[in-house]
Order: sequence, then C-alpha cells, then structure tokens
Amino acid sequence: MRAHPSTTDLQAQDAAHHMHPFTDEAALAQKGARVIVKGEGVWLTDSDGRRMLDGMSGLWCVNIGHCRAELAEVAAAQMRDLAFSNTFFQTSHPPAIALAAKLAELAPGNLNHVFYSSSGSEANDTNIRLVRHYWACRGKPQKQVIISRKNAYHGSTVGSASLGGMAAMHAQGALPIPGIARIGQPHWYREGGNMTPEDFGKARARELEEAIHRIGPDSVAAFIAEPVQGAGGVIIPPDSYWPEITAICEAHDLLLIVDEVITGFGRTGNWFGSQTFDLKPDIMTIAKGLSSGYMPIGGSMISDEIADVVGQAGDFAHGYTYSGHPVAAAVALANLEILETENLIPRVRNHIGPYLGRTWEGLEDHPLVGRAETCGLMAALALTPDKARRAAFAADEGVVGEICRDRAFANDLVMRHVGDRMIIAPPLTITEEEVDELIRRACKALDETHAILRQTGLMAAA
Ligand SMILES: *Cc1c(COP(=O)(O)O)cnc(C)c1O
Repeated sequence: MRAHPSTTDLQAQDAAHHMHPFTDEAALAQKGARVIVKGEGVWLTDSDGRRMLDGMSGLWCVNIGHCRAELAEVAAAQMRDLAFSNTFFQTSHPPAIALAAKLAELAPGNLNHVFYSSSGSEANDTNIRLVRHYWACRGKPQKQVIISRKNAYHGSTVGSASLGGMAAMHAQGALPIPGIARIGQPHWYREGGNMTPEDFGKARARELEEAIHRIGPDSVAAFIAEPVQGAGGVIIPPDSYWPEITAICEAHDLLLIVDEVITGFGRTGNWFGSQTFDLKPDIMTIAKGLSSGYMPIGGSMISDEIADVVGQAGDFAHGYTYSGHPVAAAVALANLEILETENLIPRVRNHIGPYLGRTWEGLEDHPLVGRAETCGLMAALALTPDKARRAAFAADEGVVGEICRDRAFANDLVMRHVGDRMIIAPPLTITEEEVDELIRRACKALDETHAILRQTGLMAAA
C-alpha cells in the first residue's frame, strides 16, 4: 500500500478544506473524520491500521467487494487506448456500445436502451425530462406530474431531490420543483397502526389511485419508486403492495419508473429488484452496483416504446459530458462479467441471502429490536423501547440510532442508522464466517447501546 500522511495531519486538512456530503461539519471537525486508506473484500482499513467490516458496501455499491485487481487492469488498459471520447456528435466507442448491449440483455422485459449518466441523481434528472418529453412527443404535453413517495430517495440534484421525499432535503434550497406529487410509503412497522401488513400494503398502494384521480389522469406522466426503499431505512413493503401498484399503473395511462440504483445488480437476489417483485418498468434508474462503485457511472434503462417515440422526434436536447465515459463503461462491463461468471447473484438468492436472513432475524431476540428483516443482502433492525406497541423512543428520532451507529463503528462494523432503524447491505461476496462476524459485532453494538439507554433513561417510550 502507498504511504499516506499521519492521521492527525489528514484530519486537520480534511476539516480545513473538505466539505462532506450530508455532514454536520462543525461536529465532524470536533472529532475528526475516520480516514479510510485501503479496501479488500468486505474489509476496510483506516489510517491507524484498524480493520473494519464494511456492512454497507461503501454506499450500497461495492457489490463485488473492494479492490478487485481485474478492474484496475481494465481501467488502466482502457485509459491507454481511449481515456475519453464523447458520445454526443454522432460518435460512439466500443466500451459504451458493449455495455449498452450487455445491459439490454440483462434488463427485464423490453428495456433495451440505455441513456448514460455518471450517477443515480443525474439518471433521475434524465428521467424527469424524458417522461415529460415522451408524452409531449405523443401529443399529450399536459402529462407532466410525476408521483413519488414520502421518504423516497432518488438523489441529491435539484431535480432528483425534488423527486425524492426527504423532508430535510426539501427544507433547504427552495425545493421541490413544481410538478411532483407524493403519496405515503409502505412502512408498516412505523405507520401501519393496528392494520395487518397485508391490509396496510393495499391501503398505501391505493393512495396512488387516489392521487391519479385527484391530479387528473391526463396530467400524470409517471410513478417512480424504489422496489425496497434504501436510504429511507431499508423499508421492505408488505407482499400485497407491489401487485396492487402494478395493477393501478396498468389501469391508468402512466409510466412506471423503477429506481434500481440500490436494488439492481444482485442486491435482492436477482439482477434487478423488478424481477424479485415482478414489476414491469418502462424505465429503470441504474448506478451504484453497475460498476460496483469502482467508477462513477449510472443510466436510465428505457423501453422500446419510449426509445422509439423519442427517437423519431428529433434531438432529445439533453446529455452529460461523461455520458458513457469509456473508462467507466469498460469497468462496469468487467464488473458485470464478474457478477455473472462468479455466480454471485444466484449465490445471494439461494445461499448467502437466506443465511444472512436466518442469522439477522435472530437479532429479534435482543431487547432493543422490534423487528429484523432482510431482502437479499439488504437488512434492517427497527429499534424500539416497547416491542408489543412497536413504540418510538421518547427522545428525538435518530438519537438512539446514532448511539447504536457509533457503538457499531467503535466495534469496527460499518452499520448505518436511518432514524432509529439500523441498516446494512454488505458486498455480495461476503462469506458465512464474515456474516457471523457481522452479527457478533452488531449484537455487541446493540448490547452497548442498551446499556447506555438504561444508564441515561433513554429507554422510555414516546
Ligand atoms: C444513491 C441513490 C440515488 C442517487 O445516486 P447518486 O449516484 O448518489 O447520485 C438514486 N436513487 C437511489 C435509490 C439511491 O439509493
């Protein structure tokens, strides 16, 4: 490994010059960032040489595990051949072409076309413009409204953050943009009250139909959703939810955009969450696992019908300098080959996913855990002071979750919190022994959190 400055020097320069995403800078400057210098498989090493188990695959993206040398070789070779070339002016290049063909082969249904971006946010910005332009091309320019969900995450640009349903993001920078409506999320544990999960799932799906009637079917362009809400807290919808949503989408003249940025590329045990939940998207947003995070690349997978209508209507006046970047595309293609040749996705579906499911569900015996759920290799724990009532803590939401996150970090496990839900999404390559280690560390973090809550009186229910 290459040499690096000392931890104190790194932290001082980081605090002086580096503004971090979604971070309280003053609080971070107080304690200093943990500086990561090395990755290998499911492991990260910090600048003091401590090894951490990466339960989050970086940021839901490192599906094949950290630092596979094959991808480094592919990137180096592509940089020597053609480090950059654009795809705007009637030009193309082999990596963008080969990756597009591969994605068309893998994507479900008739999603045979890709529009490239460098991130999930950009891809969702593309989707906003694309669906509105599509309807305009079809002579229905008034079909503009996109229906999304509360607590959805679709990215952080002006467009994609508007599309999302994160209240804290809308509170800054005068968001959302017009033309976006929102319905409730299928979060039974938190919002299901006395309903069964089945009834609640159906009720939340019917909000889509109500919204379509309220807005007017002639004004609705599309519905967008993640198969499983990721950044919202790994919210796995009740079984009744998606069939009902699918029926509503089919009954009305609107497009279904499935945001697969997290659920794509094996996370749920199939290539795409759309296959796991039997969805028929017109557009799929992809990023993250597309390159396992080795290079920034994303895109929109687009149906034959939409590509045809838009393709016959002259220029689509949209694109990014790095759309289909040759190095990113070459690395993404090599990543897909690894997922395929190493059978990583059937392994998630048939072996390591169920193994994580069984061991993770064991955490429900812990006094702090109201519910432990998994879908493939994404998992959540709902923390509660009162399991029977599924009660929230009396403290502000997220106070307990943050304590637990800090205890996990102190025990060298990267586990995130969203409010008072603890979440993980480890690399698809994780072994049984590593899952056992992850569970041991999570359990220790829960025990230490429980002790802190009892000492400080935070165990009280709201
Ligand atoms: C991360 C994420 C995005 C945004 O992707 P970026 O690459 O961070 O812009 C969009 N949608 C979902 C579901 C995500 O998890």
